[in-house]
Amino acid sequence: MAMSLLDGSANLRCGWNLHIKKQHQHAAGLSSLIFKTGFLTDVTGLCAISSAAHGAVFRSVRAPVPKSISAARSARILCLQDSNSNTKYFDFVVVGSGVAGLRYALEVSKHGSVAIITKAEPHESNTNYAQGGVSAVLCPSDSVESHMQDTIVAGAYLCDEETVRVVCTEGPDRVKELIAIGASFDHGDDGKLHLAREGGHSHNRIVHAADMTGREIERALLKAVDDEAHPFVRPPFRYRSADFSVMVDIIPKNTCFQKATTGDDEIYCHGVDTLNTETRQVVRFIAKVTLLASGGAGHIYPTTTNPLVATGDGVAMARRAQAVISNMEFVQFHPTALADEGLPIKPTNRRENAFLITEAVRGDGGILYNQSMHRFMPLYDERAELAPRDVVARSIDDQLKKRGEKYVLLDISHKPREQILAHFPNIAAECLRYGLDITSSPIPVVPAAHYMCGGIRAGLQGETNVKGLYVAGEVACTGLHGANRLASNSLLEALVFARRAVQPSIDHMTRSSLDIHASTMWTRPVLPTSIESHAMQEILFRTKTTRVELQSIMWEYVGIVRSTNRLKTAEWKIGELEAEWEEFLFRREWKPMMVGLQACEMKNLFCCAKLVVSSALARQESRGLHYIEDFPFLEESKRKPTIIFPTSLKLTWSSQQAHKLAAGAPR
Ligand SMILES: Cc1cc2nc3c(=O)[nH]c(=O)nc-3n(C[C@H](O)[C@H](O)[C@H](O)COP(=O)(O)OP(=O)(O)OC[C@H]3O[C@@H](n4cnc5c(N)ncnc54)[C@H](O)[C@@H]3O)c2cc1C
Repeated sequence: MAMSLLDGSANLRCGWNLHIKKQHQHAAGLSSLIFKTGFLTDVTGLCAISSAAHGAVFRSVRAPVPKSISAARSARILCLQDSNSNTKYFDFVVVGSGVAGLRYALEVSKHGSVAIITKAEPHESNTNYAQGGVSAVLCPSDSVESHMQDTIVAGAYLCDEETVRVVCTEGPDRVKELIAIGASFDHGDDGKLHLAREGGHSHNRIVHAADMTGREIERALLKAVDDEAHPFVRPPFRYRSADFSVMVDIIPKNTCFQKATTGDDEIYCHGVDTLNTETRQVVRFIAKVTLLASGGAGHIYPTTTNPLVATGDGVAMARRAQAVISNMEFVQFHPTALADEGLPIKPTNRRENAFLITEAVRGDGGILYNQSMHRFMPLYDERAELAPRDVVARSIDDQLKKRGEKYVLLDISHKPREQILAHFPNIAAECLRYGLDITSSPIPVVPAAHYMCGGIRAGLQGETNVKGLYVAGEVACTGLHGANRLASNSLLEALVFARRAVQPSIDHMTRSSLDIHASTMWTRPVLPTSIESHAMQEILFRTKTTRVELQSIMWEYVGIVRSTNRLKTAEWKIGELEAEWEEFLFRREWKPMMVGLQACEMKNLFCCAKLVVSSALARQESRGLHYIEDFPFLEESKRKPTIIFPTSLKLTWSSQQAHKLAAGAPR
C-alpha cells in the first residue's frame, strides 16, 4: 500500500518490503587513492586542541603502525588532507560518542583509521543519562525465548522477530564484553551480578550500576578508547582530542550522478561535512565507511529526558541523503520525569533536559497518586504501576487533563530508608538539592519525551540503503522495538548492532578506495560570515523562538494521545512555521549553503517533527506508543512498519540536500 504524504515530500508505505542488500559494492572513484589497512591517516597532531565546555569534539583514533614505517607514513598522511586541513581522510568516520559510537570505534580501530565526531563533551549523550540498566539473559532460570516474548509483547507485535532473536541471543556476550572492557555493575551478596527487574520483563535481567548505569558504561568506554594499554583493545591504539566539530550533513553521491558516470543507481555515502564550532571552520571528512550513532530526537518536544545534543540530526541528515526512514510515529514518553514545579525549591533556570525518575522506582514498589493522594493506576490497568510505559504515561496524561493539574506524585517513602538510598542514590540526591527528601515525601512527576523507536531503517548488520552508511543505537530502526521499546532494551540494541556492524564495515572498507575527488565534487557548506552582526543576532533570536514554537506544537498536537484532526493541524502549523522561519532567514541574506549550529539543528528538528507527524497520520490504528482517538483499536491488517522512502521531490530548504540547492535548485 503506498500513500503519498500531504506535503509531497516523500512516499510512505507500510510493509516489510524494504530490501537492503547485504553485499556492498565498491565505492566508485575514477581516480582514487588507495589506503591499505594499517597504513593510516593521522591528522590529529595538526589540529588545535580546545577545552571549551560546549561545542563539539572531533576525536581521532588510529591503529598502531610499526615504528619503521612511521616516517614514510607521515609523508603520505600529509598528502591526505588539503593544504588548509579542511578535508580529512579516514577509513571510518563515527558520528556520536554514546554507547553505539564508542563500542563500534573500539573494534574498527583495530583495522583502520577512525575519526569520532561528536557534538559536545564526549560523554554528553543519552547513554550518559541512562539510569535503569541493560537487559540480558544472564540467569539460568531465564531464557532467550522469554526475553524475546517480553520484547515482542511490549512492542505490540510489530517487532521484527529475527532482529529480536539476534539481540536477545547476542545480548549476554555483549554485556560480558562490556564488563571485560571495564564497566562495573552492581553485585548481590552472593557475589554474582545483581539483576534487577523492570516493567514488562518477566525475569530479573537488568544489569545495572545503581541508578547511574549509563554513566558507568560511558565512563568505561571512553576510558577504553583513551587507554592505549587496555588489554581488551588489541592492538592498542591512540586516542587524541583534536578539535570541536558537529556534523552538518552526510556527503551523498546520489543516484543521478552515479547513473551518469557508471550506470550504477545505488546511493553512496562519502563521509560527512562538519562544522567546527570552536575554530569556526567547515571540515569535510571523506571516509570509506560512515557509522551514524547520533542518538535520538527528544528535543522535538519541550519536555524531554534527552540532553541538548538530541536534536535528531542523524535521522534528518540521512533523510536528506536518501536513506529510508521507518516507524517515526512511535515516540516513547517516559511516564515519570521530575516535575520541577512540584519541588519545594524550584530550579532557578529551566532545565535543558528533564530529570528522569527511573521506572525501577515503580519496580521497587513506588505508587502513583494524583494530587489528592488517590492511587489511580489500578483504575486504568490491572498491572497498576507495573503496567508498560505507554499505559502509565497515558493514564497520567488522562489524570492531568481531567484534573487540570500539572503533575502527579510517585511515592516510595513507605520502603526502608536504607533501601531507597542504596537503590536510588542519584534520584535522592537530585531531589534533596531542591528540598525534597524522597525517603519521607512523594516525588512530583510528569511524562516527558524519552526515546525514539523509529529512525534510519537498518538491516541485521546495521547497513542502510545508502552504501557505506551504517547505523547503530537510537538513530537506527532495526525492528527490535516495534511499536514500543521494552525497558532497558535500547542500550542492549546499541551494543549488539554496534558490534554487528563491525565486520561488514571492515569488509566494505577493505573493498573500497577513497575517492579524493569526492572532496571537491559537492559544494562545501559555508559560514554566514557575509551576514552583518545585527542580522545574525536577529536570525539567532528567531531560530530560538521558532524552536520553542515547534516544540509546543509537537506537545500540544502530537503528544501522548493523538487525533487525526490534531495531527493535520500540526502538519499545517509546522509547515507554516518552517516557511516563515526560512523566509525570515533568507530575507536576511542567509544562503542555502550556510551553516550554523542553531540553524542546522532547527532544520533537523523540523525534518524529524514532520517525519513523526507524517508517520502518525499514516498509521490509522492505535498500537503501542501511537494512540489515536479516531482509531482506538489495534488492527491486525495494519501490523506493518511505517516506511518513508526517499524521493526526489523536496519542497523545503530543510529537507533538501545542500549540494542540490547549491547547484541551482529553487531558492
Ligand atoms: C534519561 C534517560 C534514561 C535512559 N535509561 C535507559 C536505561 O536504563 N536502559 C536503556 O537501555 N536505555 C535507556 N535510555 C535510552 C538509552 O540511553 C539510549 O537510547 C542510548 O544510550 C542511545 O545510545 P546511542 O549511542 O545511540 O546515542 P547517544 O548515547 O545519545 O549518543 C549520541 C551521540 O551523538 C552525538 N551527536 C548527535 N548529533 C550529532 C551531530 N550532528 N554531530 C556530531 N555528533 C552528534 C552526541 O553528541 C552523542 O555523543 C535512557 C535514555 C535517557 C535519556
